[in-house]
Amino acid sequence: MFETLSDRLSGIFDKLTRRGALSEADVSEAMREVRRALLEADVALDVVKSFTDKVRNRAIGAEVVKSVTPGQMVVKIVHDQLVEMLGSDAKPIDLHAVAPVPILMVGLQGSGKTTTTSKIARRLTERDRKKVLMASLDTRRPAAMEQLKILGEQNSVDTLPIVPGQTAVQIASRAINAAKLGGYDVVILDTAGRVTVDQELMAEVAEVKRQTNPHEVLLVADALTGQDAVNTARAFDEQVGVTGIVLTRVDGDGRGGAALSMRAVTGKPIKLMGVGEKSDALEDFHPSRVADRILG
Ligand code: GDP
Repeated sequence: MFETLSDRLSGIFDKLTRRGALSEADVSEAMREVRRALLEADVALDVVKSFTDKVRNRAIGAEVVKSVTPGQMVVKIVHDQLVEMLGSDAKPIDLHAVAPVPILMVGLQGSGKTTTTSKIARRLTERDRKKVLMASLDTRRPAAMEQLKILGEQNSVDTLPIVPGQTAVQIASRAINAAKLGGYDVVILDTAGRVTVDQELMAEVAEVKRQTNPHEVLLVADALTGQDAVNTARAFDEQVGVTGIVLTRVDGDGRGGAALSMRAVTGKPIKLMGVGEKSDALEDFHPSRVADRILG
């Protein structure tokens, strides 16, 4: 039977009936379970280590208050530490800049970048009443430009007219000009993806960033790819610089381990999460909810 981390932690302490401070031995046994659960959830090894160290420090010697069992107490400490490492509060997209506010979407091909671009555009349009323009800078894959155009039509969001033969930087500046002239509040630039991180991609994305000075650079990463997603995030952050992360396919990620690693490794906030293929399947990232999922 599948046992959640909460169950396992409570189980360890069931034997423990006495009250008072948690002993080092009790906590060490619990930390083995936490370690195992986090590794199963695909959290990076060094992140697991620093996590368990922090929890251990908080737990050893902690007085167990009368109203809770030692197990519940440790579950709470683990939960609080998870929330802290996941970034505590939800961090929305920052639009506090002169309109049209440029947002640059970056990430690998297949991560869900184009879908997420239109999800964000739809949400800003419908919920925040913003006038949004989307543009695809994927000069190598005409299908990607076409995909964004179709998504725009489906969601009643404008896309920049496709002009063949332009470079990514040329399309980006055309998008910003069109957004200025058209009185748009936000312009979302969907950069080209590649199957792997390569220097050509990084150079192109970095150049687009330099030319457009985006207010947000959002890395889109597939939660199901676990450690690969973390390495991708690190590479984009080091070489381009990102302001936030959007985790996709969180609907398929049972335990949310990628979120913890991603946040710990890059230090950048996870702002949103994709929870399905539909154009409204986008949610704010809530550390507390993800911590609940990891705990099970
Ligand atoms: P891109 O190459 O990075 O632009 O990726 P796409 O936006 O084309 O997405 C690739 C596939 O992933 C599409 O079939 C999307 O419907 C799907 N997808 C994107 N985001 C999510 C998500 O949050 N959950 C699920 N289940 N599928 C997603």
